[in-house]
Amino acid sequence: MTDTPTQLFIGGAWVDAADGATMPVDDPATGEILCHVADAGAKDARLAEEAAVQAQEEWARTAPRARSEILRRAYEIILERTDELAHLMTSEMGKPLAEARGEVAYAAEFFRWFSEEAVRIDGGGGILPDGRNRMLLSRRPVGPCLLITPWNFPLAMGTRKIGPAIAAGCTMILKPAPQTPLSSLALAAILKEAGLPDGVLNVVTTSRAGEVCEPLLRGGRIRKLSFTGSTQVGRILLAQSADAVVRTSMELGGNAPFIVFEDADLDKAVDGAMLAKMRNMGEACTAANRFFVHSSLADEFGRRLAERMGALVVGPGTRDGVDVGPLIDRTGRAKVEELVADAVERGAEVLVGGRAPEGPGCFYPPTVLAGVDPESRLMDTEIFGPVAAILTFDDEDEVVRRANDTPWGLVGYVFTEGLERALRVSERLEVGMVGLNTGLVSNPAAPFGGVKQSGLGREGGRVGIEEFLEYQYLAVPVR
Ligand code: ADP
Repeated sequence: MTDTPTQLFIGGAWVDAADGATMPVDDPATGEILCHVADAGAKDARLAEEAAVQAQEEWARTAPRARSEILRRAYEIILERTDELAHLMTSEMGKPLAEARGEVAYAAEFFRWFSEEAVRIDGGGGILPDGRNRMLLSRRPVGPCLLITPWNFPLAMGTRKIGPAIAAGCTMILKPAPQTPLSSLALAAILKEAGLPDGVLNVVTTSRAGEVCEPLLRGGRIRKLSFTGSTQVGRILLAQSADAVVRTSMELGGNAPFIVFEDADLDKAVDGAMLAKMRNMGEACTAANRFFVHSSLADEFGRRLAERMGALVVGPGTRDGVDVGPLIDRTGRAKVEELVADAVERGAEVLVGGRAPEGPGCFYPPTVLAGVDPESRLMDTEIFGPVAAILTFDDEDEVVRRANDTPWGLVGYVFTEGLERALRVSERLEVGMVGLNTGLVSNPAAPFGGVKQSGLGREGGRVGIEEFLEYQYLAVPVR
């Protein structure tokens, strides 16, 4: 960690913020300051923009194979440094080391996947229906991009955007979340080592997100925004992108339903619930937020889930045997506490957990609430913590209606052993992704994304690179 960069990365050089500002990075397990990193302002944003704009033309002309090989080398370096990167991530974000190692592998995979996609960008063409004209279609990079990432997956949210941007031939400014800048800075150093030309990727760490991002979006030189974060901030950025008609990809919030039908295999459902709820301490937009369990199984499901949740070890992510690390910060924990208090006031029964421990760090115990009132605030708020809220239902139509009764539509989880019901319910859910008898959907080779207010566009999969490419159509008469 001692040699992790803490400066801005602009035009291939490590530099301080123009006004010399720095910001602290906290360890959420202790509340102590780990280090300080550069805190960029508007002037640094302009410099990063200039570097990205200057590098764009030549970068777009680079051989696809050369771009592919940079990604491939970076993939290999990331895997070689798994332990180092996992420790860095755990120290700034809190997740247990085993999960951090899992994220390193997941993050690296985006580079391998897009190294394979970089050489498969194809255009097309043909004779038009009138027989007198021909069309030639070519693909070109959309241009300099602004990438804004959240703190919950500090490495993977970066590679999921940087991978396709490099593959497509776009230059970039990456603005990571202020809570977790170190993983992004380490990633920039790895890409430089892998041979990425100067100016292609620029990283501005900042506590002044609006001051840095708004001029970039309104300025007319940034051609693309790829954002992962809350729906609330997403709306603001969409409005700012309208001025200069910036293309956008938005991965926003979720409110995932987790539906357990009366014909479900309860072992699979409880395993799935543990994954869908507890991955990343529940700090994931894919986290199951509302458990709808058929009334015939609800008691048994609640009992078994509470037993599994109660057995998890809570503590600092660096300690051996810990399953659940701290939440990201005091604000995040206070929100979880308020949501639980509201549900309990409305009659929910606490099967396990439910009370934050005393002492330093932002810990919150795995919690299961049964008999949750549908009017509770956690039904229409992303909990972003290790709290499973169980409601009951009796009828398929009713549960589909309730599952869809939300402005979000990222992912849904369906547990049933009936094939027809599985397909029917999955098709009726207004979501971009469905986990059928599984609690994990994320995979670099699959298109990740949501409908409704969960976002626009997809990341990963064959379509992930499309978000960074334009078509150019050439009309040529047939002579
Ligand atoms: P969370 O509540 O999970 O932190 P946010 O949507 O607030 O989610 O943050 C996601 C990312 O968006 C972070 O990198 C954050 O710094 C950034 N962000 C927040 N507000 C703005 C803004 N006004 N302009 C640009 N980026 C922003």
